[in-house]
Amino acid sequence: MPALTEDSPLTKLLKKPDAEQLARTKGIQSVGDLFEFVPRRYVRPGQLTDLSSVHVGEDVLVVAEVKSASSRAMRNRRGKMLTVAIGDDRGNELDVTFFNAYGHEKKLLPGVRGFFVGTIGAYGRRLQLTHPEYELFEDDEQGEAAVEWYRTHRVPVYSTTGKLNSLRLRKLVHTALDTVDRIREPVPDDVRAARGLVDRAVALELVHRPAVDDLPSRGLERLKYDEAFVLQTILAQRRKAAESELATPRPPRPGGLLAAFDARLPFELTAGQLEVGEVLASELASDRPMHRLLQGEVGSGKTVVALRAMLAAIDAGGQAALLAPTEVLAAQHHRSITTMLGDLAQGGMLGGAEFGTTVALLTGSQSAGARRRALLDAASGEAGIVVGTHALIQKHVQFADLALVVVDEQHRFGVEQRDALREKGIRPPHVLVMTATPIPRTVAMTVFGDMETSTLRELPKGRSAIATHVVDADRPGWVERTWQRVAEEVAKGHQAYVVCPRIGDVDDDATTGAASLRDSADDSSDEDAGWDDWGGDDDGDAAERELTGVYAMLSTLRATPALEGLRIEVLHGRLDADAKDATMRAFSAGEIDVLVATTVIEVGVDVPNASVMVVVDADRFGISQLHQLRGRVGRGSVPGLCLLMTQEAGERALERLDQVAATNDGFELARADLVLRREGDVLGARQSGRGNSVRHLRLGRVEDEQIIADAREDAFALVADDPDLRGHPALAAAVATRLDEDQAAWLERG
Ligand code: ADP
Ligand code: MG
Repeated sequence: MPALTEDSPLTKLLKKPDAEQLARTKGIQSVGDLFEFVPRRYVRPGQLTDLSSVHVGEDVLVVAEVKSASSRAMRNRRGKMLTVAIGDDRGNELDVTFFNAYGHEKKLLPGVRGFFVGTIGAYGRRLQLTHPEYELFEDDEQGEAAVEWYRTHRVPVYSTTGKLNSLRLRKLVHTALDTVDRIREPVPDDVRAARGLVDRAVALELVHRPAVDDLPSRGLERLKYDEAFVLQTILAQRRKAAESELATPRPPRPGGLLAAFDARLPFELTAGQLEVGEVLASELASDRPMHRLLQGEVGSGKTVVALRAMLAAIDAGGQAALLAPTEVLAAQHHRSITTMLGDLAQGGMLGGAEFGTTVALLTGSQSAGARRRALLDAASGEAGIVVGTHALIQKHVQFADLALVVVDEQHRFGVEQRDALREKGIRPPHVLVMTATPIPRTVAMTVFGDMETSTLRELPKGRSAIATHVVDADRPGWVERTWQRVAEEVAKGHQAYVVCPRIGDVDDDATTGAASLRDSADDSSDEDAGWDDWGGDDDGDAAERELTGVYAMLSTLRATPALEGLRIEVLHGRLDADAKDATMRAFSAGEIDVLVATTVIEVGVDVPNASVMVVVDADRFGISQLHQLRGRVGRGSVPGLCLLMTQEAGERALERLDQVAATNDGFELARADLVLRREGDVLGARQSGRGNSVRHLRLGRVEDEQIIADAREDAFALVADDPDLRGHPALAAAVATRLDEDQAAWLERG
């Protein structure tokens, strides 16, 4: 056999169909991938088990004879189920069950002897082994050797696929371990020693072939470290490359726009805003492109901070672009920036301040004329600030001199979109990314690891807390009380949001319900898709239930006596831009009492007079999303109230709602969210735009945070000394593999 390396394809060890199966279902293509395929758990029998005294949960190694075997079709699934009774010499018996009998029924014939390894479970009151690993005795010698192996090892249990059961997978991994002559070692000796990590070769043995007293977790820790180390090396290199780019310095101009703006600010900046402002000013003044993430709770005042940076860029002769995730937000930013700037935004106009500028708005759905004017203003430099959606990224959009790009709500923009904007500058512009979704440190270090971060921790003075309660929608009294509360708030001169999970049809009304259950894909325009869409895979029942649409809710509310005479309108992503804009304006102006909306209002919508929010079918939303949503109320000096309405929610969903109700700490909730969510999604395309996902690291876990922090420190130190990894070929190879995988994942997604 030609030498096997970690880069060898699995077809070197497996028949093509099996190799293809592994590639398709587990993403395992190379021998190296196979090494990273860690067992789900281990069975540790330690000795031969006496069948007369087994109990549920016990790991067993049983030598027994097949007494009887029968297979039958399953009721709820396709395929046949095989039940085998095995017995020892002393007449004790145990049931063994396989869902999907295929293959086993030909081998487990009455009279054959073998050994069975697994964990005892129960079906009803009968004990049984489900899908045990087993080997049949060929002869005494083989039998004894195998039993000896099982007695002295922890038996890894792999997640199986097709004909590749755990036993075959284990033997495959062992063959690979025995055949690859040199296991790659990407972590330098000194780092390994300093961190007390085992060799990678040792780690792989611990994970895949642990002796009975070994700790596989020691091996897994090493694999986690490796994963973090390679990721951080990539980030360190990226950071290094960015540092060698040259930006145009944009130094502050005393007596300019920024100074004029500050002089007329109606409030005092918080200490945090001032501090971040100074950091931004000094980075703008430098010839290295700024690459900074600004995080802060909803309402912490990020927009003001960003606007001040934009004004500084204009003072230095450049332009700024503000990229928003939805048209509603873009329009709102345009409006609020124009308002905040007052006559400073009337550059060139009669009555405008002498050094004023112009704020342009560019979105996908505006009229051709408005669009042409905005494009012209951007290209001529007339507009100091251009606010827009994805439309800003398109090729034909040009700037006279783009100095600063501000991205609002990072998670909806991919890296490649940010890059497209960067390319619009003569030199790379400075980049500021803002997010209101608190980012746990693990994610900050991995997904955003090539950026510097700043955080606004305090809220501006005079903010009031938000009280959150879960409302059981199956109790009419509670629902009635909810609408009464809304009416009371309106009576006090405040306004309300009612958020629904879908749009529904215009003619949906309360009496017919939301009509038939239809594919929710009908409903989801891009704008309505939240950062954490839960899909239908969470609480089985909830997915079956009909979700409340905006229009059905509208007619319900209009028919609710408590709300009689109130001005109730709808807002959602399917409305055209003008209608959305008009509705938002009217709501801001207090001309609408109750706004029934989808999650278009999730991010950034700012109406301080709104004091109450009702989220309908709240169980359909993720933790972070609910936290974002309720941030829309309690923005002024009025205390906020958020009512999470739910019916027939599963236990997990209720737990989620209770968590949201229990705390206003966004960071705590973000962590909880991370623990509940599938990890891969955290780094998924939508949020980060990168192909990277993590295999071993668990971003919601505190233990892994330390591993990432250590690996980051080590990787950044290494790259500082050896940017091209010339002295670290094994690490360079691991980095290349990782980048290839990301690239492939990226291309696959299309
Ligand atoms: P974020 O973008 O972080 O959600 P915003 O920048 O939209 O927050 O600010 C929310 C509201 O608070 C806005 O109405 C803004 O004008 C106001 N605001 C911002 N900074 C302060 C401050 N230092 N003092 C009082 N109000 C502020
Ligand atoms: Mg904002």
